[in-house]
Amino acid sequence: MLEAKNVKKSFDGFRALKGIDFSVEKGDRVAVIGPSGSGKSTFLRCLNYLEKVDGGEIIIDGTRIVSEEKGKAVYIKEEEVRRATAKLGMVFQNFNLFPHLSVLENITIAPRCVLKREKAECEEQARELLNKVGLLSKAESYPGELSGGQQQRVAIARSLAMNPQILCFDEPTSALDPELTGEVLKVIKSLAEEDMTMVIVTHEMGFAREVAGKVVFMDDGEVVATGTPEEILLHPKEERIQAFLNKML
Ligand code: ADP
Ligand code: MG
Repeated sequence: MLEAKNVKKSFDGFRALKGIDFSVEKGDRVAVIGPSGSGKSTFLRCLNYLEKVDGGEIIIDGTRIVSEEKGKAVYIKEEEVRRATAKLGMVFQNFNLFPHLSVLENITIAPRCVLKREKAECEEQARELLNKVGLLSKAESYPGELSGGQQQRVAIARSLAMNPQILCFDEPTSALDPELTGEVLKVIKSLAEEDMTMVIVTHEMGFAREVAGKVVFMDDGEVVATGTPEEILLHPKEERIQAFLNKML
């Protein structure tokens, strides 16, 4: 469903991604862990076309959006890249809701404006999604009236409204007070139980162990190891992973 091969990305000569290989099959739940600054967010942003890679390949649902020719990244037509990357939903650390739009409008704006769907149909779907994340009563509220946990649940509903094939989370609970993380993790867990394909960058090791089928450990712009939660989180062979996990305890 998603494949990245040898993906490279530099910022002013700083190599943030040094050749990432990564793949996601339908129904996979992949947790991406690793120290701060290891390139996790940059990698997700490259997958979602929020950043352009410098080299390597990204294939989304059979469409190769970028390939490498003579050491340079070559993208297919912008419109086709957008069509492919629209299959990936993204939930950010800081929710990124539109503050001047109601909860319902936040969820319906992209389906209406990007997918050109009918307002009534979008609103019906939005209410179903709000019900799913336990926030139907907040449809007419504004983001500023909600707690961080509620805002993040709205952000998840907003992503789902675009019917993504893969939902990507970038540290969805890192900006939340500890007492609010549970409600967000619960929603993500319920999506996992519905067999949603997901990539989750997280520092919540217990959650990663519970939900993920596959764990990818990144450090210093590289994938150091990929394996089952048991292999990576319980019996890591690499010293770098052991050191990281010890620090998390
Ligand atoms: P992580 O999400 O694992 O904490 P990031 O992907 O955010 O790591 O960052 C990886 C490295 O790339 C860091 O050293 C960060 O400072 C750098 N970086 C990320 N985005 C930019 C940018 N837009 N400009 C310059 N450096 C960046
Ligand atoms: Mg990050």
